[in-house]
Amino acid sequence: MRVFELKELGLVKITKRKASRNIRLSINTHGEISVSSPHRVSYNQTLTFVWRNRDWIQNQRQKQQQIKQQNSVFYPDKVYPTILGGLNFKLVNKSNEIRMAQKPTLTTLLLPEKYEHNNPKIQDFIRREYLKLIRTDAETYLPERLRQLAEQYGFIFNHVTIRNQRTRWGSCSTKGNINLNMHLVRLPQELLDMVLIHELCHTLHPNHGKLFYKLLYAIIPDYKNRNSRIKKYKFNHFYACDELP
Ligand SMILES: [Zn+2]
Repeated sequence: MRVFELKELGLVKITKRKASRNIRLSINTHGEISVSSPHRVSYNQTLTFVWRNRDWIQNQRQKQQQIKQQNSVFYPDKVYPTILGGLNFKLVNKSNEIRMAQKPTLTTLLLPEKYEHNNPKIQDFIRREYLKLIRTDAETYLPERLRQLAEQYGFIFNHVTIRNQRTRWGSCSTKGNINLNMHLVRLPQELLDMVLIHELCHTLHPNHGKLFYKLLYAIIPDYKNRNSRIKKYKFNHFYACDELP
């Protein structure tokens, strides 16, 4: 194998194979270019081939980037948190089937080693299991926490609903019905509480006027700081504990 560098495209790994009849170009999940080419084709000819396909290469890389941004990649042995614990997964060689180990706080998925962790089906499976856990933990934790905070600061709300929302962390109707995004349980405690208190303040002030903020800042003096931190969290991006924003 030889490695070349092309401007704009970066490194290109070329492997010559006796068995190959055509030039084959591929982009791995890190966006790296590798080519296998027949012996009779020179390195220069292969590089020319790569260069002619540069639009396709950039296109593939862009698609990969989009997929990564839309759906985070889950890695083994990292903990994907919820306020009540979290989920991780391990690749184990012992078994041929998927098993689940439930500890009081941590849910562990044990997956047969024969699966690659970046196999899309495995990634989908982990994402679905994580979403299930997020929903369960959100339904267990959020209504209770909202009640505690309401009691502590003297708010009265009507009804609370937990939703899998794409656009906001929470909302409050003029009737005092509060909607909370289930993804709140993935936030650190102080950011989660900030959203709950924000919605509780709306039970008295159904707008973002002066009085609303006066009340909010009285309860959370560092609201500005917390509110800028929460902007780094994306609903569709799942952070492991050690890579939290
Ligand atoms: Zn608001």
